[in-house]
Amino acid sequence: MDYLAGLNEPQRQAVEHIDGPLMIIAGAGSGKTRVLTYRTAHLIDKGVDPFSILLLTFTNKAAGEMRHRIESVIGTQAKNIWMGTFHSVFAKILRFEGERLGYTSNFSIYDTDDAKSLIRTLIKEQNLDDKIYKVNLVLNRISNAKNRLIGPEQYINSPVLEQEDRYAKIPMMGQLYKLYCTRCFQANAMDFDDLLFQTNILFRDHLDVLHKYQHKFKHVMVDEFQDTNVSQYLITKKLSAVHQNICVVGDDAQSIYAFRGADIQNILNFERDYPDLTTIKLEENYRSTKAIVAVANSVIARNKNQLKKDVFTSNEDGDQIEIIRAGSDNEEGRIIASNIFETCQKEGLRFSDFAILYRTNAQSRSFEESLRRLNIKYRIIGGLSFYQRKEIKDVLGYLRFVVNQQDEEAFKRIINLPKRGIGDTTIAKISLTAGEQSSTVWDVVANINQFQGVRGTAPIEQFADLIKSYKLMVEVEQKDAYEIASHVAKTSGLVRELYEDKTVEGLARYQNVQELLNAIKQFVDSEENEDKSLSTFLQSVSLLTNADTTEDPNDKDKVTLMTVHSAKGLEFKHVFLVGLEEDLFPSQMMLQSQADLEEERRLFYVAITRAEKKLMISYAESRYQFGRLKSCEPSRFIDELDSTYLKMAKTPGKKDTSNFRPVQKTGFVEKSTSASAAQLIQKPKQNTNYQHVPSANFVQSDALSLAAGQRVEHQKFGFGTIQKLEVNGAERKAHILFEQGVGEKTLLLSFAKLMII
Ligand code: ATP
Ligand code: MG
Repeated sequence: MDYLAGLNEPQRQAVEHIDGPLMIIAGAGSGKTRVLTYRTAHLIDKGVDPFSILLLTFTNKAAGEMRHRIESVIGTQAKNIWMGTFHSVFAKILRFEGERLGYTSNFSIYDTDDAKSLIRTLIKEQNLDDKIYKVNLVLNRISNAKNRLIGPEQYINSPVLEQEDRYAKIPMMGQLYKLYCTRCFQANAMDFDDLLFQTNILFRDHLDVLHKYQHKFKHVMVDEFQDTNVSQYLITKKLSAVHQNICVVGDDAQSIYAFRGADIQNILNFERDYPDLTTIKLEENYRSTKAIVAVANSVIARNKNQLKKDVFTSNEDGDQIEIIRAGSDNEEGRIIASNIFETCQKEGLRFSDFAILYRTNAQSRSFEESLRRLNIKYRIIGGLSFYQRKEIKDVLGYLRFVVNQQDEEAFKRIINLPKRGIGDTTIAKISLTAGEQSSTVWDVVANINQFQGVRGTAPIEQFADLIKSYKLMVEVEQKDAYEIASHVAKTSGLVRELYEDKTVEGLARYQNVQELLNAIKQFVDSEENEDKSLSTFLQSVSLLTNADTTEDPNDKDKVTLMTVHSAKGLEFKHVFLVGLEEDLFPSQMMLQSQADLEEERRLFYVAITRAEKKLMISYAESRYQFGRLKSCEPSRFIDELDSTYLKMAKTPGKKDTSNFRPVQKTGFVEKSTSASAAQLIQKPKQNTNYQHVPSANFVQSDALSLAAGQRVEHQKFGFGTIQKLEVNGAERKAHILFEQGVGEKTLLLSFAKLMII
C-alpha cells in the first residue's frame, strides 16, 4: 500500500525522518496523529522491529484505533508495537520490574475512590479535623507533589511547602503524605500518579533496568505532547537517551491540562534538551471547513502565550457557524435534539456523525432527556462509567483481593459483603491488629486464632475459607480470568443477593454484573491478549481513561456526549458546543488569572476544532445550578469569534421564553422607549472574579436604537463608533471601529452587549 501518497510534503518529511529527535508542532486537524500512525508503519516497513517501538497516546481507545490503521498498512506485525497511554504502558513495565521497588507483580491500582477512602482513614487515625483537612485538598496536594516528582521526605523537608501548608492551616500535610505512601506500599498498591512516579524512581535507582528499556525502545513517539507533565517528560527523555530517536507531536494551542500539572514548557525544553532537533510545522488543516478554521483562528489569536502558526485549509467554505440562543437549559436540550433529528433525516446522516460537547459532565442531563424523548441513541463518555458502578466495584473488589491480599481498600469493601455480620468495630480491630503486629489484614483473618486482640467468629472463618478457595484457583490451578470471576460472582453471594432483589434497580444491577462477566469473557477470548490472567484483566480495567468506552462495537450509531477535555484528538461531522455562558465556559471555578483564561480559551479552541462540516454553539439564558434557577449571560468567548462567519440559528416553533430580556422582534433599528431600555438591562453578574466589567449598564443590543455614526461602548473592546449596520434576514450586524488599537470589529447584534454613549 502506498501510504506515502496520502501525505503532504511536510507530513511526508516527518514520516521519513527516522533517525534523531523530531518535533512536530502543528495546528488542530493538520494530521499530527496521522503522521504518527504512518510513521510507525513506515518504520516497520523499513525493518524496525515492532517490539522496539513505543508509541504513547492520550487514550487507550486512540491506541487501539492507531494499531488498527497501522495493521491495515503493514499487517499483523502491528500487534507487537508497545502502544497505549503513559499509565498503561508503565503499569505494564512496573508489573515486570516492580519487585525492584518492593512491589509484587500483582500490585493493585488504587482508583480515586480508594485513594480518598485511605486518606479519610488516615485523617481519622491521626485525629485531624476533616473540615480543615479536606479529603480532596489532601489528595490534590499529594497528586501535585507526585507529578512534580517530590517524594514525602523531600516534601517534609521543603521550607516552601511547609510554609504553604502552614498558611493553609494544614501543617500535618507532609506527615499525611508520608503515611499515605507507607499504607499504599503495605497494601501492595499504587495510585494513578504512582504509575509515573514509581517509574521515575525505578529508572533513577536501578540503572540496569533503565538500560534494558533504553536499549529495547529504539523509537519513542508521543502524541498530544503539549499535555505531558514533568514526570512523563522525564520518562520519555530517559528512555530515548541512548538512541535519541524520539518523535513528539503536539499543539501548544491545545494544551488543556495545566491544572493537572501538564506544562507547555516541555515543548520549549525539548529544543534545549535536543540540540540536534528537527522541527516540522504542519499548517494545513484537513479536518474542517474554511469557516470553522477561521473562527478557530480568531479565537486562539487572542492568546498572548503561544507559538506562531498559520492554520489554513483548502476545504470548502462551509456553512456559517450557528449560534443558538435558548431560554433555558431544557430548551437548549430540546432545540439541539430536534436539530439532530431533522438534520439526520434531511441529509441522510447517522447519529454517530454528531457530538454534543460541554464544559462539565453535569450538563449532560438536559440533552439525555431530549434525545431519549426523540428516540435518538446516544452514548456518554466519561461521567459515572460502567466500572464505577457500585455492583461492579463490589465484584472487582473481590477479584482484586483474590489477586492481592494486601489490598486493604478492597478488603474493607468486601469483608462484610454480602452482609455476613462482621461489624465495623471488628473490621477496625483487624486493621489495628495488623498494623500493630506488622502483618497484613489477610494474615490476621486467615489465622485469626493466632492473634491477640481479635476473636475468631464463624463469619470471619467462612470468609477466610472462601478467599482461600479462590486463591487456590489463581495460584495453584492457574485458571483464567473468566473462570475465576464467574466462580467468584456465583459463590460469594453477590449475584444471589442481586438476583433476589426484584426491583427494577436490582434487575439492572444484576444485568450489569452479567455484563461485566461478558466483558471478562471477551477479554479471555480475544486474540490480542496473550496473558489471560485475572491480574492482567484487572489492570486493564483500572487503566481505562475517561475517554475510553466499554461499549458494544456493533452498536456504534449513537450521538456522542462528552466534555471538551475528553474530545481532544477526535473529530465529528457536526458538533454542538453547548452552554457557552459566562461562569460556565469560561468556568468560574478555574478563572484566577490571565493564564487560566488562556487555558479556558485553548479549551474553547479544542472544542471548535473537533468539527468537520458544521459547528453550532449554544447558550441558555437561564439554567438550574446547585438547585437554583440562575440567569446566565452569553460567554465572552462568543464575542471573540470572527462574526463574518456567524449567524443566529433559526429555531422554528421556538417561542422566546427569555425570562430576563424582552427582546423586540419587529425590526432592526428600533426606537426604544426609556421604560423598555430600563427593562432591557441585563441582570448584573454574580461572582465574577476576573477582569470583567460589571455589565449592569450593558444591554443586549438587538433591541436598541442604533445608527451609523453612533458612539458605543462594548464590554471588552471599549469605546468605538458604528461604521455600518447590516441586516440579513434575522441577522443584524454592526461594523464598529473601536479605539485604542482594537480596530474594526463586526459584531452580531443579537448577543453583543453595547452601551450607547
Ligand atoms: P488534533 O490536533 O485535533 O489532534 P491532528 O493534527 O492529530 O488533529 P489528524 O487527526 O491526524 O490531525 O487529522 C485530521 C483529519 O485530517 C483526519 O481525518 C485525517 O485523516 C485527515 N488528514 C490528515 N492529513 C491528511 C492528508 N494529507 N490527506 C488527507 N487527509 C488528511
Ligand atoms: Mg491528533
